[in-house]
Amino acid sequence: MKRTEFQKCAGCGEGIGHAGNIDFYVVEVQQYVVMKQAVHERVGLEMMMGGGTRGAVLAEVLGTNEDLARPLYTRPHRLFFCHACALGNKFSAMEMMDIEEQPV
Ligand SMILES: [Zn+2]
Repeated sequence: MKRTEFQKCAGCGEGIGHAGNIDFYVVEVQQYVVMKQAVHERVGLEMMMGGGTRGAVLAEVLGTNEDLARPLYTRPHRLFFCHACALGNKFSAMEMMDIEEQPV
């Protein structure tokens, strides 16, 4: 990891090594959206191929292999946590999406 990639801790706002620990955590959160039309087409193809595991395998080989879900953002939300904050806090994915990234 390069110097320019580091961020401050999203939990306490300090540097990720401020307490003397040499480890830290990086959490990437991404929200995906199900592509309903692609899912319907895939399920239909699987059923046409006999359904079940066999139908799924045949659909995998014969289908277009289209994405069934796509990321909502161009890149994942990336947060750094120092050792203490990573072990002492619990964040939901939604809470993490609301925390601003902390470039150093
Ligand atoms: Zn921290």
